[in-house]
Amino acid sequence: MDSDALVSCGAMMLQFVAEYWRSIEKRPVVANVQPGYLRQLLPAQAPEQAESFSSIINDLESTIMPGITHWHSPNFYAYFPTALSYPAICADILSGGIACIGFSWIASPACTELEAIVMDWLAKAMNLPEFFLSTGNGGGIIQGTASEATIVALLAARSRIFKEKKTEDPTLTLGRLLDQLIIYCSDQAHSSVDRAALILGCRLRKITSDSDCVMRGEQIEIAIAEDRAQGLIPFFIVATLGTTPTCAFDDLVTIGRVCEKEHLWMHIDAAYAGNAFICPEYQYLLNGVEYAESFNFNPHKWMLVNFDCSAMYLKDRTHFIDAFNVDPLYLKHAFQSSAPDYRHWQIPLGRRFRSLKLWFVFRSFGLDGLRAYIRKHIQLANYFISLISKDNRFEIVFTAAAQLGLVCFRLKNSSNELNERLLKALNDDKRIYLVPSMVKQKYILRLAICSWLADEKHVKFAWDVIEQVTNKLLSE
Ligand SMILES: *Cc1c(COP(=O)(O)O)cnc(C)c1O
Repeated sequence: MDSDALVSCGAMMLQFVAEYWRSIEKRPVVANVQPGYLRQLLPAQAPEQAESFSSIINDLESTIMPGITHWHSPNFYAYFPTALSYPAICADILSGGIACIGFSWIASPACTELEAIVMDWLAKAMNLPEFFLSTGNGGGIIQGTASEATIVALLAARSRIFKEKKTEDPTLTLGRLLDQLIIYCSDQAHSSVDRAALILGCRLRKITSDSDCVMRGEQIEIAIAEDRAQGLIPFFIVATLGTTPTCAFDDLVTIGRVCEKEHLWMHIDAAYAGNAFICPEYQYLLNGVEYAESFNFNPHKWMLVNFDCSAMYLKDRTHFIDAFNVDPLYLKHAFQSSAPDYRHWQIPLGRRFRSLKLWFVFRSFGLDGLRAYIRKHIQLANYFISLISKDNRFEIVFTAAAQLGLVCFRLKNSSNELNERLLKALNDDKRIYLVPSMVKQKYILRLAICSWLADEKHVKFAWDVIEQVTNKLLSE
């Protein structure tokens, strides 16, 4: 362990990243390389002899950086944002420096205890129901991704229904039960729900959302009745707050009532939009969360915490511990009953000290600073709306319950094919980067405010580019 080298090489690395941030706006937003470009630049074998750290740093600009798509460029408007801040990076340095594996309390008590504390802070900041706090039967855990959280929730729900059905029929096997199980989500839900269903071998039925892309309880009730009549066992549903294509919000209250009546586990995927709930003015969008068994969102998307940090809350942790509990002797310790062992709440055994990132970020910005960040992105999206609304060739489509930093638009009265050509022309132009979506058979363009650096002048620039590219396309 070479402390002096860490100090000198670390300084070089920090300098490089700081310079990168200073130059990011001038870089082409999407990498302009061909597949296999890097193989031509690097040797075919690992070096036999040690090289100097400075020679590694010196190679970055010519090898790695050309192959980077700059997610934090103020001209990047694709997907949803991914978060970035200096305190989160510093926390990751500490996590790397300590390099513990916090699977149980004794494996590093601070790792477990800080996670429970900051997850409680976060739940309180969002005004989540009390049952999600670690002081009751539930609690929060940091998963790697929203996709993992969905799998974990589905596993726990499957374990709950299996336990219940087995008390009715002690000869029941999971294999036989699986044949009958069915889960639900909206046709707008994230593809990770399809993955979760595939991985766990559960039948999935997609509920058709309404014309605003909202899934409602009535449709689910009909589906459940049909499926029960076929001998199936409905047991799990994913409701989305802030869908990926259009940031639509499923109707939690009516869905929740159906779940309560029909004994379904409701998992809420609020991967992106959930971050806005630290602002009191958006907490009304959580109405109905009290029906949820599990709730998840990604601070690594919009709360200045670098990937990976997915905040998951459980109403009753015993379902998770039941689903995942294996207890070999080498993992046992004397405090098992008095402190959570997060290994029982997740798929892997090993886990990083991710809560440091949340702790550093909360303390460096304060909740007020984080709210200001969220509000600024929302305000920039509204600014884009004000610009595009002046051009009557465009229409804003699928406006969600709340405009949370994403704008969906297309050319008015035009074919999907023309909008597809517009998107291609914009991305060929290379000054800004957007991705499209296909919603209700409509090809739409999505502009998501992503960068920490994004300001009104960048949004104005993006609009100017869209206007120019549109003029050229329509005059051809
Ligand atoms: C981004 C997103 C996901 C996937 O998040 P990961 O953390 O990458 O798994 C899931 N659901 C929704 C609604 C999303 O926007």
